[in-house]
Amino acid sequence: MEKPRTSCSLHPALEATGLCILCDSPVCVQCAWTSPMGKVLCPRCASPYQKRYEWEGEATEATKETGATVARLLQELSAAQQIIAELETKLRAMRPEVPWVPPSGEAQQ
Ligand SMILES: [Zn+2]
Ligand SMILES: [Zn+2]
Repeated sequence: MEKPRTSCSLHPALEATGLCILCDSPVCVQCAWTSPMGKVLCPRCASPYQKRYEWEGEATEATKETGATVARLLQELSAAQQIIAELETKLRAMRPEVPWVPPSGEAQQ
């Protein structure tokens, strides 16, 4: 009995050497993509991963930039909080007879 030949889902003329772990499509040596974990993926299933690896360099740069922006914003925020604290101190000094009333709860009029 002849062994059934499985052809690649993308290249019918070529024999499949493996199956995609995600969609079970037969893939040939030419189009099989092996992940860093050693799993075989068809080109369609592998494309998001391939893109991710291509973009990794760019993403790292973007992450660095974002990190710097966040650090700067945190610095500005802490400066703003200092200004607010100073203003609160000044306000308390200006109106010592008015106690601060919480917006909810015991405020009765
Ligand atoms: Zn697949
Ligand atoms: Zn193929």
